[in-house]
This record gives sequence, C-alpha cells and structure tokens, in this order.
Amino acid sequence: MVRYKGKGVYGAVAVGKVSVFRRRDVEVKRVRVEDTEPELARLEEAKEKAVAQLKQIYEKALKEVGEANARIFEIHMMMIEDDDYNEAITEMIRGQSVNAAYAVAVTADNFAEMFSSMDDSYMQARAADVRDISNRIIACMNGSENNRSVCDEKVIICADDLAPSETVSLDKDKVMAFVTAHGSSNSHTAILARNMNIPAIIGLGEEFLTQIRDGATAVADGFTGELILDPDEKILAEYRQKQKEESEKKALLHELKGKENVTVDGKRIGIFANIGSIDNIGAVLVNDAGGIGLFRSEFLYLEKSDYPTEEEQFKIYKRALESMAPKKVIIRTLDIGADKKADYFDLHKEENPALGLRAIRLCLSRPEIFKVQLRALYRASVYGRLGIMFPMITSVSEVEEIFALCAQVRKELDANNVEYSENIELGIMIETPAAALISDKLAPMVDFFSVGTNDLTQYTLACDRQNPDIDRFCDTHHEAILRLIEMSAKNAHANGAWIGICGELAADTSLTETFLRMGIDELSVSPAFVLKVRDAVRKTDLSK
Ligand code: PEP
Ligand code: MG
Repeated sequence: MVRYKGKGVYGAVAVGKVSVFRRRDVEVKRVRVEDTEPELARLEEAKEKAVAQLKQIYEKALKEVGEANARIFEIHMMMIEDDDYNEAITEMIRGQSVNAAYAVAVTADNFAEMFSSMDDSYMQARAADVRDISNRIIACMNGSENNRSVCDEKVIICADDLAPSETVSLDKDKVMAFVTAHGSSNSHTAILARNMNIPAIIGLGEEFLTQIRDGATAVADGFTGELILDPDEKILAEYRQKQKEESEKKALLHELKGKENVTVDGKRIGIFANIGSIDNIGAVLVNDAGGIGLFRSEFLYLEKSDYPTEEEQFKIYKRALESMAPKKVIIRTLDIGADKKADYFDLHKEENPALGLRAIRLCLSRPEIFKVQLRALYRASVYGRLGIMFPMITSVSEVEEIFALCAQVRKELDANNVEYSENIELGIMIETPAAALISDKLAPMVDFFSVGTNDLTQYTLACDRQNPDIDRFCDTHHEAILRLIEMSAKNAHANGAWIGICGELAADTSLTETFLRMGIDELSVSPAFVLKVRDAVRKTDLSK
C-alpha cells in the first residue's frame, strides 16, 4: 500500500481500478526535406482536420458541461489559427527545410515553455493547451488518434496531466475520478472536473507516475487530495463506508429541498449561491438557493479577448435576473487584477499584484470601463431584483466616488429615456481589514455588506491566497478574522444595513452557529453547498 498526497480539486471519494492514460506516442523525427511546399500543404491539411475534430469535441462539451466550459475548445480552434504560432511553424519549415510535424512539435515546446515561465497562473495553464492543439495537428498528419479511449468498466484515470480536450473526450460514464501528477487548480481540466462532479486530485508528483499501473486498485480521496495505491482490506472497508455515508448524506440533503433556512429557535436567514457565469444558474435552481449572493462578473471579461460591450453585458445580466426572478441577484462589479488578468487591460507588471491596481481601484482609475458595466447593470435592473456590490473597498471616499459615478450613469439614462429600477440595493464587500475597521462609517452609506473571507483572510493574516507553501499559517478561523466579521455585523445592524458572507468560509458549517450568533443575515456559497448549509442552520439552536 502506498499513499500519495496531492491537492483535491473536487471533493468526493472513488474506489476502483486504475487506468493509466497514455497518449499514443507520436514519434516526431527531424527530417530534412528538399521541397518545403508539400510540408506546408500537409500542415494546412492537418490543421483543417484538427479544427473539424475540435468542432465535434465542442459540440460534445456543450451538451455535457455547458457553454462556458465548452468555450475552451473554441479557444483551441482560434489558437490553431494564431498568427504567431503559425508563423513560427512555417518559418521553421522554410528556414530549416524540415518536416512539418517536427516544426509543430518544436514550436509547441517553445510556446509551452514561454507560457509556463509567465507570472500569471492563467497564462501558465495555457501551456497545456498549446501542447494539446499541437499533438492534435501532429496526430492528424500521421492519420492517428491522439489519445485512446477508456476501457469498458468505470475506472480512476491516472495521467501525468490531462489536456482539456482529453478530459472532455473521455466517456464521463466510465470515469470514477481524475488523478494527475501535475496540473494546477486553475487549469481548465480542474474546472471541467468540478463541473462534471467527478472526484479529482492534481499534483501527485513524478514518483506516482512511475509506480502507478493499469488494473491496480486505488482509492482517490478528493476531499483530502490523497491517492492510496493497493489499499489493504481495512482501508478499503473504511473508504467504502465513507462512500456509503456520502451518498446517504446526499440523499438526506435532497430531502431538505423546499424547506426553510430556519434555526431550531426560529431565526431565519438567507442561503444564496455564488456563480461565475449564467451557465451556473441551473445548479443554483436545482440546489434551491434563495438567490444569487455573488455573481463574479469579472469572468465575463476573462473569457473574452476584448472588453465585453454594454450590450453583451446587458444581455447576460438581464438573463440572470429574469431566470432568478423574483429572487434577488447580487452582481459584483469587475474584480479584475491580482490573479485575475486579461491581456487587453494592458496592466503594468506589479511587484505585489494583490496589493495593486485591482477591482474597484482599477474601475475608479478607468471610469470609462466602469461606466459601461454600470450602464448595463442599471438597464438590466428592470428585469428582476438586482443588487450591485463593489469589491475591495478600503475607504469612505471610494464609496462616494462610486456613488457619484452611479448618479452620472442614472442621469445619462434619464436623458435618453432609458428605464431602470429605483429599488436596486447597493452594497460593498468587506474584504479588507480597513473596511471592517471603518464599517461604522461605511454602513450608513449602503444597503448591505458582503464579507469576502477569502481576501479578508489574505489581507488580515498577510497570507497570499495563491501560495500553497503557507497553507499552515493561513488559519481561516483566526480570531482576528472572526472579530472583524463580528464588528462589521454590529455596525451594519446599528445603521440599518444587512450583512452576508460570500467568501468560502460561508460554507464552513463548523462556523455556521458562530456566524448566526454574530447576526449574519445571509450566507452565499457554491451551489453544491446550499443544502449542506441549510442542514447546519436547521440544526442550530441559538436559545441555548
Ligand atoms: C472573497 O474574497 O472572499 C470573495 C468572495 O471574492 P473573490 O474570491 O472573488 O476574491
Ligand atoms: Mg475577494
């Protein structure tokens, strides 16, 4: 029995046989050619075939994992047509008189290396994409498939890494878990695994690859990130029991649908859901959330190669509001910067991006961009119950500046006879210690606070939320954080505002009672956690 420790990407447990995912080796040799024209023609033909395959994969992904997740294959199609990539390949074929397959393979390595060396974790994750499209083109030249299908029984797929197209091409009904030696939780593969509700572990390391073998029995624990190879009977029994308990828990949670979020002693709270795209609204409704407590609007910007227009944004916000009406939808304005970057913003490289031009600071520095979003939000407000919240607030003057821009937008809409709702709730995120400490001054200005515990933890404890090496110093239950939340709750209520929590801590049921005792009015969590939190609320008795 051997144990490997990685990082759990989707929490669930799988017990079963291993299938090692091997790409069919595409041998790429350097061959000198006299005439480069046929090689260039081969390249074009292979690219066409690759794009046709990607179209099919896109259709499959669209059905299985939704539009937002399928979009990566549209990006792959665009990458195949990318000028820099194509120029590098054709220049190599012409300049060095080599075969097309070799030029593609070398270009793939160069581009992947370039992406990997970038600071931005999103760009680093693109290294897998460029390798993926290049392998596909080479396979098309060789007339072979670039990966193999899974065997008949359900298996735990083990791989060095999985490209997004490989992940989605696997038959979902035959995959019990994804386990990889490399990968990052930011990669599209990890995101796809989460959306497929399949237990997934990444980052198990090189050694795991040398020891894993087809047909071996393994336990993949997506909660702890542990993979146990050749488990003994005791471990197997333990995990089978864990699986049984998990499925019983799920069934029990199902029974909570339609029930109220009320404590034993009768206190009612709101349990809302966090989303990053309108594609997640289905999950919000299925899990019976009371509304959307955090719509991370920056994902609209991150998915695009240029600023989303007012019209594009308006349509998305309108759809979110209409789909959820009469329930409330709180849309957070653009929180770009730090780990969330889009090239077209042309942001300077910063020494400490988490402390840099991020979120509201960027919006207030570039009001022309901010106002496009505000106009889209105001216009959409007539289609449902809208709340707008502003991220990364640290001062009263920021809120004054925001409200002045909102007033300008309303004036412009009035001048053009464009309708908007008079009942939009305006709130701010409490995710900096500064905001919590001056919450007595901020509360009279707004309708609500929403505590972003992810950033509040990072900024209070001086712990970079992107750095796994300091995990043990990053105590999310730290008394300093709980005191800041409590102080914010007191100040909100003293000034007629309500307060919710939308950071990951909202789903930590070991704190549900603590939050309720502080007077927190709403908890906003991933759709999959709504019923778990409802269960915890219904078991809490505040009279004791
Ligand atoms: C937070 O910081 O807790 C939060 C909800 O915002 P994000 O995770 O998007 O920064
Ligand atoms: Mg935040």
